[in-house]
Amino acid sequence: MAGSGNAHLRSDPNTLLRIENMVVEFPAGRKGKVHAVSDVSFDVVEGETLGIVGESGCGKSTTAKAIIQMPKPTAGNVWFNGKDLASLEGEEMRRMRPEIQMIFQDPISSLNPRRKVREIVSEGISVWGSGRSADGAFTQDRIDEVMTSVGLKPEMVSDRRPHEFSGGQCQRIAVARALVLDPKVIICDEPVSALDVSVQAQILNLLEDMKERYGLTLVFISHDLSVVKNVSDRVMVMYLGKVCEVGDGDHLFDHPAHPYTRALLSAVPGGGGRFEDSAESLEGELPSPINPPDGCRFHTRCPRAEDKCRSVEPQLAAVDDGDHFVACHFPHEVGVQFDLRNGGDTAEAAAEVAGPEEADA
Ligand code: SF4
Repeated sequence: MAGSGNAHLRSDPNTLLRIENMVVEFPAGRKGKVHAVSDVSFDVVEGETLGIVGESGCGKSTTAKAIIQMPKPTAGNVWFNGKDLASLEGEEMRRMRPEIQMIFQDPISSLNPRRKVREIVSEGISVWGSGRSADGAFTQDRIDEVMTSVGLKPEMVSDRRPHEFSGGQCQRIAVARALVLDPKVIICDEPVSALDVSVQAQILNLLEDMKERYGLTLVFISHDLSVVKNVSDRVMVMYLGKVCEVGDGDHLFDHPAHPYTRALLSAVPGGGGRFEDSAESLEGELPSPINPPDGCRFHTRCPRAEDKCRSVEPQLAAVDDGDHFVACHFPHEVGVQFDLRNGGDTAEAAAEVAGPEEADA
């Protein structure tokens, strides 16, 4: 299979996570297989937040789950701290699990309804070990510490169950559950999509605070470009299992070069339809991942498609002197600035209307 190019991979000595040529495929009965993730590579430097963005079905959540080997990728490498997670088995994999934690989209259903909050938060310690101390008292201190850090009062919430809390409070419990294992990386899979706009900003601010306090590295997945822009240092745009654009977040959003990225930006509420040519292109249906288009996978919806796009897969290549790479035969000039910050529902805007709904936990 032709690759999408690895020109965007960096040689930073502080790289913590490096995904190389990841492929994830699922059987699809007699029709063949679902090409969920096709030859995807990226890296994340320690302390960085990588935003992964794209429509539903683009493979971003499958990519995230394959990093933690649930499921194991069909092919490719997942380098973490010098080890290829894709090659680890048994006890070796078990020892690595606490290092990379996940936070999921639906906070209420991601928590066991029969368990009390303290049991939920401490779950990882009993399954994986805290990695800090075998001393029981210390472990209890650790549970109290993370609950307090995320804005929960241990004495008020420990004996309550998830259904007694709002969505935002449940997401705080999920963040505490992830933090208690002292992970290096947290993968946040649409962590605010199921929450009211007024609560979204509170959870985004919480994740920023926890990143700072615990020295975390984040992979932040969302279909919402406004959210991704506000939390990410670097951004990777995916379409139908492929990377189509990656680079410094501010630069990429101000100077999108891939027609799909421009289409996504034009679809942002309040985005002003700056790229009207691209906005029209998203009207088509997302092709089936069982039988993805040849050549560029976006060619069936792209207003700039030419014959070459239907047969030759574009490789990621630099479009300027900075950290900006695009997989497109005919990328847009990167000179025109698109100011998403003046668009509609940004996290800053949400912060202004954030209410005190969670302050009582
Ligand atoms: Fe469009 Fe062709 Fe670029 Fe694909 S390679 S995004 S079809 S112009």
